Amino acid sequence: MTIKNLLLALHDQLPLKRFIKNFFITGNAWGMFSKYSHIKKDGKLKQSYPTKIKAVNAANSMGIKYGGNYSAYKCPHCDGFHIGKNKI
Ligand SMILES: [Zn+2]
Repeated sequence: MTIKNLLLALHDQLPLKRFIKNFFITGNAWGMFSKYSHIKKDGKLKQSYPTKIKAVNAANSMGIKYGGNYSAYKCPHCDGFHIGKNKI
């Protein structure tokens, strides 16, 4: 985890209202500090997207295809973006 990617990941949670919601109401954003924000449970690397917009488009497609609430996030562990499925 580099400082640059950590700051980008925190910045990705803005604006402040969203930041507060994601950290202190749903708690979803704390997951970014887990290694599983970067790798899958089976140890393989998660699909990485070079830009936020590409990750958002993929997340939207996954939501349509599989149902559920998928979201794109900046990974603090690498230079890319990943997709996660939120419980809430
Ligand atoms: Zn990553």
